[in-house]
Amino acid sequence: MLKEHFRIVRGGASFRITQNRNPESINQMPESAILSSRPRVLSGMRPTGKLHLGNYMGALANWVKLQDAYECYFFIADWHALTTDYADPSRIKLNTLDVALDFLAAGLDPEKSTIFIQSHVPQHAELNLLLGMMTPLGWLERVPTYKEQQENLTSKDLTNFGFLGYPVLMASDILLYQTQFVPVGQDQTAHVELTREVARRFNSMYKKRLDDLKKSVVFPEPEALYTPVPKVPGLDGRKMSKSYGNTIGLTEAESFTATKIGNMSTNGQRIRQTDAGDPDLCPVSDLHKVFSSADILAVTQQGCRAASLRCADCKDLAFKSVRGIIGPFHEKRLELESNIEQTWQMLRDQSAKAAKRAEQTMVDVREIFDLSRELGSVKRYFGVSEEELNNRRNLNQFEDLRRPIRTENEIDPLLPSHWLVYLLPKEIAITIDSDETWLTSKKKRVLTIAGTFNADEKKWNIEVPQKSYEVWVLLCRDGKNWLEDFVLPQKYFSQPYAKAKKSLKKDEKIPVTIRKIGERFLLSIHGSEPIDITELRGNYAPLN
Ligand code: SF4
Repeated sequence: MLKEHFRIVRGGASFRITQNRNPESINQMPESAILSSRPRVLSGMRPTGKLHLGNYMGALANWVKLQDAYECYFFIADWHALTTDYADPSRIKLNTLDVALDFLAAGLDPEKSTIFIQSHVPQHAELNLLLGMMTPLGWLERVPTYKEQQENLTSKDLTNFGFLGYPVLMASDILLYQTQFVPVGQDQTAHVELTREVARRFNSMYKKRLDDLKKSVVFPEPEALYTPVPKVPGLDGRKMSKSYGNTIGLTEAESFTATKIGNMSTNGQRIRQTDAGDPDLCPVSDLHKVFSSADILAVTQQGCRAASLRCADCKDLAFKSVRGIIGPFHEKRLELESNIEQTWQMLRDQSAKAAKRAEQTMVDVREIFDLSRELGSVKRYFGVSEEELNNRRNLNQFEDLRRPIRTENEIDPLLPSHWLVYLLPKEIAITIDSDETWLTSKKKRVLTIAGTFNADEKKWNIEVPQKSYEVWVLLCRDGKNWLEDFVLPQKYFSQPYAKAKKSLKKDEKIPVTIRKIGERFLLSIHGSEPIDITELRGNYAPLN
């Protein structure tokens, strides 16, 4: 059946916080994720109603301990609740507040942990949508709880898309905060494993994009942090669960709890109080085993076996032990209930804090999916600001190209590669075929060649080899170390080039000049009629 909680942390017994740490996973962490000195942990709980003692012992008690050793994010998973309770959402907000009050009453501290509402951090939904694009359907159908819960929760129609996809939402919850450790019980292992697979697939599928961003990973693979989980017995001896109707509510009146325990079955033990009983067969003794001190446990077990303790007294002792756990919780909860606005405001503030952290991750994720809110490299394609253009064409900005040209005939061999890296838009794929010949993605042959500058005549001389090219890229650097690049499609040079070839020897290079007159640039090929190529400066369209 569906867990009442999107429960990741379970168990109330002691745990060793170092047992599952993997130094390699920490080395994988993006810098932003390891700024905190404490490893990051995330866990959530679905707001499906009031919490019971089993929730407290199985999860909350552990969370309270985790706060001191980890950077903790605890959230109320209201979107997860809708995956099964979509037909009647009328109590989502009420339940959310109820769970928040229980969190605080149990000892979660907003000063130590970030406690927030999932739906108040829209980045969860955004990442869920994006990760959903790349998560294979088969992975979701294979999650063991998917079929299991559909079969068990017969009162609800779980053939919905949201329910199938909830493990992706869960993965998004975890990965959004670049979580290192996810405290789980054994029954939640499949969810953490799926999250790891999603992270792995993302990091490998977008490796090239990550390289461009100079990042090794965006999502470190989180590790399961297994903690011992006591089986909290319900009033009938089975595991305490709302679906069995055997719970002791954390917020119910003490008299009600006393009555419930007083009415517990002894499972056929000691029908007559003079009969000796076997406490290991009685659910009341199960309560003692979890909630009573060793002394009380010993007294009740002996009294049961010797028929010297009345069942009513044994149950009263069990009630007192339970009250020892939930009594302080009640007091704190009543205090909080007297000012629910304060709790709601805390949730809003903490959700804003969580969203800020989540946004750090999403900036990278959007960049990788090319959904960035910055124009970035695309801007180069559509034109750049004057300032940026100046920065890239002014070679004095680049250490390797800052040195002056020593002789009139010197051609800097770095110019073509500089042009490729800094001026050519990233979207245009070019491969280098040989020193002078490059290939576009459509296999167009491109000549990329620099000219020498004649300052007196304000012209560049370029020697073009007699080879067939579809595009010429002519690089012209002037005396002030300023670079102009002209990208010429074939129609600009094919006729004069063919004519020049006829009049030159086979191994002779074809002399080409570009002359600057005012602000215009005129091209001449082996003495041909000059043509204006000013508009071809930074014209990258022929390279597509
Ligand atoms: S004495 Fe306690 S443990 Fe024994 S049967 Fe009665 S209620 Fe159960």
